[in-house]
Amino acid sequence: MHRAAPLPQAMAGTQVAVLGAARSGLAACRLLQAVGAAVTLVDDYRGEKSIRAALDLPEVAVITDSYSPEDMSADTLVLSPGIPDSHSLVKYFLREGRPVISEVELAARLTEAPMIAVTGSNGKSTVTTLIHRMLAATGRRSFLGGNIGVPLAANVLEELTLKPAQPVHVVEISSFQAEHLDRFEAQAAVFLNLSPDHLDRYPDMKSYGGAKLNLADRIAPGGWMIYNWDDPFFRANLAGREHARPFAASSLAEALFQLGDGWITRQDVRLVAVEALALPGPHNLSNFLAAATTAHLLGVTDQDIVSAAGEFKGLPHRLELVGTVNGVTYYNDSKATNPASTKAALETFEDNIILILGGSEKGATDLEPLTRLLRERVKRLITYGQAGLQMAEVFQGIVPLHYEADFAAAVREAVAHSRSGDTVLLSPACASFDQFTDFEQRGETFRQLVRDRQLEIENA
Ligand code: ADP
Repeated sequence: MHRAAPLPQAMAGTQVAVLGAARSGLAACRLLQAVGAAVTLVDDYRGEKSIRAALDLPEVAVITDSYSPEDMSADTLVLSPGIPDSHSLVKYFLREGRPVISEVELAARLTEAPMIAVTGSNGKSTVTTLIHRMLAATGRRSFLGGNIGVPLAANVLEELTLKPAQPVHVVEISSFQAEHLDRFEAQAAVFLNLSPDHLDRYPDMKSYGGAKLNLADRIAPGGWMIYNWDDPFFRANLAGREHARPFAASSLAEALFQLGDGWITRQDVRLVAVEALALPGPHNLSNFLAAATTAHLLGVTDQDIVSAAGEFKGLPHRLELVGTVNGVTYYNDSKATNPASTKAALETFEDNIILILGGSEKGATDLEPLTRLLRERVKRLITYGQAGLQMAEVFQGIVPLHYEADFAAAVREAVAHSRSGDTVLLSPACASFDQFTDFEQRGETFRQLVRDRQLEIENA
């Protein structure tokens, strides 16, 4: 299946400005340079020296000092996902009627390989990885990229260089990356779930969800939209649309895969026992069904679907089992940066949970969905950081709790109160930026503190 895309030669000689010198902006520069465009990279915060150290392309012009948008002669502006439309350069290009496109749009224009796009509030990385593994099991060259870490532009450059047979790109698309798409087309677009997040960037849930729905208008001829029937927003917006196929962790006759008696079946044939799936929790069952439905529609056999899923133990920092020390089990779910992902973690463990919540504030957050599970399953709550004080107020009287400003002190407090049979769960429901560079660093700190505890026990 080929998408209609202009050939890379079409970019040769064009002038392109790239705004933002982080990972995807740098990848966009490399790709543009490789196809012969004249590139100017603009960044308001990073110094030229550090950009040059990261980007070994002397031909790319770098602008970091004050500049006037009017001086920018580029035909097109490529926008990095973190930068809003209110930026003066974006406003200028839009006012002038010059194209503003995302790095994903740019990359997609330069390849004819099919795009499989995955979006939603939670589970994107997990489902993107599962689909990638299922496609790779068929022997195709699958590229895993987008918001998950490797920019699509980097993967497209690799594809153009290596020219593998039957390439396919499986791309995690954040709501920011679903903006400024134009000719991007997906062979399959997967819509997982919508829950409050990023309300610092979007005025309301409708516009946040609307950004993700952009993808539904960009399905390639003969392509599919795969949506979560259990999610009210995507069901309301996508059910009944042409080429829309639901998946559901509830019983749904029109779903391709069914759940019954602890088995996942297709056309009444038992494929795999739910228990045999390596990923923990009901939310991961839903993630599996999303990936399996997509893979099936793309021609992957049931056998390849099941074996790829069976071998996947999950990504780091997503309900990652760190270890058991003195009968206490430790889980690192640092990537849980909104209440819906923390709710999924709490639904995974029955009781005796010592939960660590907190971090940096990210717009209005409704903690109400956590209340019942906290009351029923959590024996002690420890909150920390910027958001922790308010969280402690909200949950006062619902569960025994304690506040610590510092993350490491919060983890130590959890350790000190744990008994054999307990689960210490870092599933913070907040971003990490008040004390860490990212969720990975927070998760690694947690792991290290658990290792320290292990050593303490061994040396006691
Ligand atoms: P994303 O890429 O959308 O952030 P991840 O797969 O990295 O998704 O998971 C992020 C967090 O969301 C983790 O805490 C994970 O356990 C949780 N999560 C994963 N899938 C779901 C789901 N379907 N519903 C709710 N939470 C989920």
